[in-house]
Amino acid sequence: MKCSIHGCINEAAVRGLCRMHYMRARRTGDATRTHQRGPKPKPFVDPEHSRTEGQVITGLRRQLAQAKLRIAELRRHLAQADAHIRQLQEQKNRPY
Ligand SMILES: [Zn+2]
Repeated sequence: MKCSIHGCINEAAVRGLCRMHYMRARRTGDATRTHQRGPKPKPFVDPEHSRTEGQVITGLRRQLAQAKLRIAELRRHLAQADAHIRQLQEQKNRPY
């Protein structure tokens, strides 16, 4: 049986492909590809995408700011609770 690639005269070795075309398919994912992969093409970035990314960053910054405010708020509550506990302990230890 011949290689299934059109125009190839080699005997088929693996999965209907000759060794050359099989290796080519394994290497590049395409048995008809004659050239090795060059440098990878630059990923396409459209303005819509980068704007969305910018919006994501803005959203994260906002969340971070809110989280910081919440932490400050909780620290205030903690300080108040501490003060309250101290107050109660002083009252308890106060001899009447
Ligand atoms: Zn072939």
